[in-house]
Amino acid sequence: PELAAVVANGTIDVPDFPKAGIVFKDLMPLFADGAAFRRVVDGIVARYPDGFDVVAGVEARGFVVAAAVAYATGTGVIPVRKAGKLPRKALSATYALEYGEATLEVHEDAFIAGQRVLVVDDVLATGGTAGAALDLVERAGGTVAGFSVLMELAFLEGRKRLAPREVHALLTV
Ligand code: IMP
Repeated sequence: PELAAVVANGTIDVPDFPKAGIVFKDLMPLFADGAAFRRVVDGIVARYPDGFDVVAGVEARGFVVAAAVAYATGTGVIPVRKAGKLPRKALSATYALEYGEATLEVHEDAFIAGQRVLVVDDVLATGGTAGAALDLVERAGGTVAGFSVLMELAFLEGRKRLAPREVHALLTV
């Protein structure tokens, strides 16, 4: 099957999670299927023929994707974490959620200046999380080589919010 179908087949729609009215896309079955997981990781790597120097993953499901992409390319992983988890001095970016706000952090010395950073996550929804992660990478001195997700929820228009930065999604729904 096509990559988009591999992602679709590995996803379960969960109605009313985390709250009423939201249909949560659960990609855990995709992660659990070795052949499918390898295909999507290889699919992300193939999208960046010029390569990248390091992979940044957004806590927590982005870590799963980032580690695999890094291993496949012989690069390293930089965690973009939720507030208060990093042990050393960190930069933080706060963004709005539907109710309230959230903060992401990255170690201030996480990147070598000009290092080409591929940022990955599992799902792009409104783009708030990705926008904060991309800002952090740039503020910490990295150069964004790309932003890649397994699934994009197009109706939430996250891609618009991230423009002109490019978004690559294996599956857009
Ligand atoms: P956004 O900030 O609204 O774009 O939400 C994206 C972030 O929330 C990512 O880190 C995703 O892991 C998570 N997320 C939002 N919606 C879903 C979903 O339906 N399935 C899995 N993760 C989601």
